[in-house]
Amino acid sequence: MFPEIRKKLGFGMMRLPTGDDGVDFEALKPLVDHFIAHGFNYFDTAKGYHNGQSETAVKLCVAQRYPREKFLLTDKLSHNFFKTEADIRPLFERQLADCGVEYFDFYLCHAITRGTWGQYIDCRALDILRELKAEGKIRHIGLSFHDMPEFLEEILAAHPEIEAVQLQINYVDYDDAGVRGRGNLEVAKKYGKPVMVMEPVKGGVLTRLPDEARAVFDRLGGSTASYAIRYAASFPEVTCVLSGMGTMEMVRDNVSYMEDFKPLDRTERAAVERVREILKARDDIPCTACRYCTPVCPRDIPIPDLFNDYNLKKAYDGWNSSFYYGVHTRDHGKASDCLLCGACERECPQHIPIRDHLKEVAKQFEGGK
Ligand code: SF4
Ligand code: SF4
Repeated sequence: MFPEIRKKLGFGMMRLPTGDDGVDFEALKPLVDHFIAHGFNYFDTAKGYHNGQSETAVKLCVAQRYPREKFLLTDKLSHNFFKTEADIRPLFERQLADCGVEYFDFYLCHAITRGTWGQYIDCRALDILRELKAEGKIRHIGLSFHDMPEFLEEILAAHPEIEAVQLQINYVDYDDAGVRGRGNLEVAKKYGKPVMVMEPVKGGVLTRLPDEARAVFDRLGGSTASYAIRYAASFPEVTCVLSGMGTMEMVRDNVSYMEDFKPLDRTERAAVERVREILKARDDIPCTACRYCTPVCPRDIPIPDLFNDYNLKKAYDGWNSSFYYGVHTRDHGKASDCLLCGACERECPQHIPIRDHLKEVAKQFEGGK
């Protein structure tokens, strides 16, 4: 474990407050201040978040305003920002400069799947990260992982230099065949690797529960997000749970129950199980809105937006889903424009059969095309 991570909640810098020009740095500063004032110290960014503005937000809102020992920072080596071995070091140095720091506490190979890992191996990424660690520019090397437990085991067995693993854990997907949260957590535990959790609220889905599910938590008190985040944090091998926080209301809520964290008790676990049953009974598409699929689509189909419209329609019978389907497809491709090329599915960390689902989406919103 990493004792330097003082509390089990991390500030995910991927859903920050925004305005007309992108991230609203002035709006973010008080959120950061509240978080740090209550003893939290872990921040997580990546070059691709907010089109590069997340790293700038780290510099302007955290690094330039707090002494370095007051915060821990995780950044990532993302496969879409390097092509060759020679690209990695300059990219890394640029990330340090963009964040305004001299070193990263954690530096992760980002969004690893069988499809992306070969690029890291071919480019000797781990050798370079080990060199950077020896130079004092990385404290700990890690991995953010989106594939099956068998593959995680292959990697951890071959690369003992990986010290931590970032995994998707949420109470809906924990046993899901496409995500395998439980299996991956068990592999991390077997190899003694502390776990950081991403997507505890499933890209926000678990904060927007249908009435029947919300009522289960309402009877206990506490926000819908609180049960999702505490669920993930209750696993002993979990060191830190990331939450993307875009408003002061979210920061205050998260801080209120994570400052003095207590694992879910038996009654709360039963409530979570009931909510999981309610949600699983609904025919939704398990998209986390990571948007890895959209840049590769030749028809410019806004896949996660259309899936969200579909999920809202199904889960909430949302009266305005059709309206938003029109908004989302006004300047972009529609579900029925899909060429069935499959490029999107190769990028999807959730292994979603996107083409099949787009046919359902077209049927729902375009009248059976
Ligand atoms: S399969 Fe369809 S949605 Fe996926 S990349 Fe190809 S055209 Fe786009
Ligand atoms: S379909 Fe897959 S890759 Fe695309 S946004 Fe959803 S989870 Fe991400």
